[in-house]
Amino acid sequence: SADFQGKHVTVAGLGVSGIPAAKVLHARGALVTVVNDGDDARAREQAAELEVLGITVRLGDGATLPEGTELIVTAPGWKPDKPLFTAAREAGVEIWGDVELAWRLRGPDAAPWLAITGTNGKTTTTQMLASILKAAGLRTAAVGNIGVSVLDAVLGEEQYDVLAVELSSYQLHWAPSLRAHSAAVLNLAPDHLDWHGSMEAYARDKGRVYEGNRVACVYNVADKATEDLVREADVEEGCRAIGFTLGSPGPSQLGVVDGILVDRAFVENRQKNAQELAEVSDVNPPAPHNIANALAAAALARAFGVPAKAVRDGLRAFTPDAHRIAHVADVDGVAYVDDSKATNTHAAEASLAAYESIVWIAGGLAKGASFDELVAKSAKRLRGVVLIGADRDLIREALARHAPEVPVVDLDRTDTGAMLQAVTEAKRLAQPGDTVLLAPACASMDMFTNYNKRGDAFAEAVRELGS
Ligand code: ADP
Repeated sequence: SADFQGKHVTVAGLGVSGIPAAKVLHARGALVTVVNDGDDARAREQAAELEVLGITVRLGDGATLPEGTELIVTAPGWKPDKPLFTAAREAGVEIWGDVELAWRLRGPDAAPWLAITGTNGKTTTTQMLASILKAAGLRTAAVGNIGVSVLDAVLGEEQYDVLAVELSSYQLHWAPSLRAHSAAVLNLAPDHLDWHGSMEAYARDKGRVYEGNRVACVYNVADKATEDLVREADVEEGCRAIGFTLGSPGPSQLGVVDGILVDRAFVENRQKNAQELAEVSDVNPPAPHNIANALAAAALARAFGVPAKAVRDGLRAFTPDAHRIAHVADVDGVAYVDDSKATNTHAAEASLAAYESIVWIAGGLAKGASFDELVAKSAKRLRGVVLIGADRDLIREALARHAPEVPVVDLDRTDTGAMLQAVTEAKRLAQPGDTVLLAPACASMDMFTNYNKRGDAFAEAVRELGS
């Protein structure tokens, strides 16, 4: 564990990670200065809370490196090309994120970490993993980029046997010495490229999760980029590459055979070459991408020695968070499904692949994405499309190129009330047996505060329609 006594530490950014970081560093004897770009009322309030403890706070100046800084602890979202970091690198000052700090502060017999990253499915898989570990009787929690921060998990009173840790690409970028027991990269698609600078840099940061793994590096057989990252990683001797696939598994893989999740990597009975774990119907919802998530979670749990029965029990006990392929209602034989969390094209593609005949509600902030691949792959499943939000032109043009025969209702609206009209139009297009799917492939902030609010508006509109 690190020694901070008398050390000059600069904390970059107030907020969810900065405030607890500043407090713990101060408590351990560091001389802490917090720097923050903004100086609004909220920042002043937070600054006052730290200043009474004897922590220095500089508001409105997140760019200048404070004199004598020996270490920077940054909020994960701060971009690596900020002047503060350039100055730090020139001065040879180390930069840690919140995850690195937690990693360094954990005690000598702290719980090992099972780490999960990827472009989509992180939260779901991390929660599935925690559910499986719990079913095995282990003391655990889903932490990281979800609810509980890693710092809280590491410093809190609670004792754990193992942690299920969700990590974003930003957090991994700033976590150079993290060494997980085992880790999984679920998938890799372009996202956050403005932050990382390039797809290569983004992949490299995701790949950091495999560095120094002791037992297993779990990769997606269908996504070769994840396997490449395993090959490039420097791991402990004896650490195995374990694949997961929706097809029949090869040796050292988990996969699906006749509707059964099967493990050929960690076989308990030496007489057999495969271990049955659970049925596809034990996975909630049993959509293809979610079965992949379940296999990844199972692989990590099995790497930790969890028996097959706990995998099944844990998957059965799992319920997804709101707005992730949530079934809202059936109205006149049509299912209404809320996947508001599908905020990029890769996620929307996965959720469209889960249904046969869809009236698709899409649109919002595109974040520079291209919709051609998504639309081309999903065209045959579309009964109709209703477009909302700021960047709907991009989707309409992609539909004209790849699915010209599909009826499109383009609502020229970005007010929150547009959702009721969208659902009404979708109902008109739908036929019994169809699914009306909100999977916007876009961020929500053009119309709503966040994706939760967007999903709530959808559910409310469906209820209004059904009553
Ligand atoms: P994250 O934490 O990575 O954002 P979530 O588990 O919250 O992931 O899921 C976000 C969205 O991504 C879901 O609503 C779903 O549309 C989609 N999704 C989930 N798992 C996958 C997957 N394995 N591959 C592609 N898309 C996925």
